[in-house]
Amino acid sequence: MGHISFNNNYARLPKQFYTRQKPIPVRAPGPIRVNRELSLALGIDPDWLASAAGTAVIAGNAVPEGADPIATVYAGHQFGGYNPQLGDGRALLLGEILTADGRRYDLQLKGSGPTPYSRGGDGRSPLGPVLREYILSEAMFRLAVPTTRALAAVTTGERVIREDILPGAVLARVASSHIRIGTFQYFTAQGDHDSLRLLADHVIERHYPDLRETENPILGLLECVVKKQAQLVARWQLLGFIHGVMNTDNVLVSGETIDYGPCAFMDAFNPAQVFSSIDHGGRYAYRNQPGIAQWNLACLANALMPILHSQQEQATALAQQAIDAFPDHFLEANSCGIADKLGLQALSKADVALVEDLWQLMTEYALDFTLTFRRLADLADNTSSDTVAELFEFPQAMQPWLERWRARSTQDTHSAADRQSKMYSANPAFIPRNHLVEKAIVAATEESDFSHFDALVDVLERPHQYHASLQQFATPPRDEEVVRQTFCGT
Ligand code: AMP
Ligand code: MG
Repeated sequence: MGHISFNNNYARLPKQFYTRQKPIPVRAPGPIRVNRELSLALGIDPDWLASAAGTAVIAGNAVPEGADPIATVYAGHQFGGYNPQLGDGRALLLGEILTADGRRYDLQLKGSGPTPYSRGGDGRSPLGPVLREYILSEAMFRLAVPTTRALAAVTTGERVIREDILPGAVLARVASSHIRIGTFQYFTAQGDHDSLRLLADHVIERHYPDLRETENPILGLLECVVKKQAQLVARWQLLGFIHGVMNTDNVLVSGETIDYGPCAFMDAFNPAQVFSSIDHGGRYAYRNQPGIAQWNLACLANALMPILHSQQEQATALAQQAIDAFPDHFLEANSCGIADKLGLQALSKADVALVEDLWQLMTEYALDFTLTFRRLADLADNTSSDTVAELFEFPQAMQPWLERWRARSTQDTHSAADRQSKMYSANPAFIPRNHLVEKAIVAATEESDFSHFDALVDVLERPHQYHASLQQFATPPRDEEVVRQTFCGT
């Protein structure tokens, strides 16, 4: 019995789904961090994972017993243009892990060397993007956003050449699967309907097994993915998260967030905010995310068309109907989420203006997204001691709105204390602020100092528990600290 209990299904699909490929060893692997809790949940001994033997596995210098490393193939629309062949160009699926409670997870190495899908790239990752993904994806998990996770990160002892020469690293990523909208698009574009059907069956078996007994499981699959994406993007909007690269190859059919390249959380609220250096037209701006998600789902619907119904006209009608359900799913998730953030039991039609006016004021005064809601939670009950008042106060112009909100709150039946504790759970004090992520990356890259990274990951494990001693992690950036642009870092 090896250190990781692999049980690989995707690697049993026919050869057109992937290429078998071993990770390329690196010069001098070194541990950065092990996610002990996740390791235990996967049945992996965290002490082993942190040891030289575990580090060698994450670095790709040893292939663990039971692994069957593959690079999977997919396609995708990137910034609206179709690319017929992408694939794991700097990542490998080591295998799948079946946990004691019957859940199945992919274990992937990112930055493990070139594959047949590298398209001239080096298959490697600089340290910065590995740390960014570790911090962001784990923070998202703690903020109750479905996401891929970080199991461990290691340095390679090698340099990677980008605009600068940077230290290299590998991230071990865990996902409930890495199957993308782009995986479906790949087979449809090839006219390979047999593989398309096999893929759909695989996804249904893996993620949506209840659909097997239904009349049209493919339609059910599309409907489920539509709903999951709507709920996912609603969570992003409710936290001020901007993904930055919502291409169809970066959309998982499991409904988890993937690809933490140029993503960022907003500090000051701005609906038009974009961080990604390559998003020139603002296609993936904050306010565009729900619409883009629906656009991506239409790509999935198109890809499923050949197997949705034997008659084209029927298939088109079913696809359209499934896509048209997106706005309702989104609005429902969004409305529940906003009610929680404002401490209301539910939003009624009459509350629309209250909510709209808040967004308007936040925009006009460029209020800090996170602290606006956290401060509202402080104000929900005046008994609270550990508040963010020192960091944030509403401008005078907000007073009439605050009065309206207070008056509306008292119409609900729950007590102020109850309202406040719910608001504290809905409104984090800590998010991975850009300037803190940047500071952690710079210290690690330039001085091999991982203390900022570790401290940030630690604080973000409990994003809703504010304490004055942690003030620096909740403070918005000073002008000179503001990060205006993020990079994919490929
Ligand atoms: P992304 O922008 O991260 O979604 O990546 C888009 C595509 O480019 C994927 O197929 C990646 O595998 C590939 N890719 C990105 N960076 C590299 C790299 N350094 N080496 C090889 N392939 C890469
Ligand atoms: Mg990607």
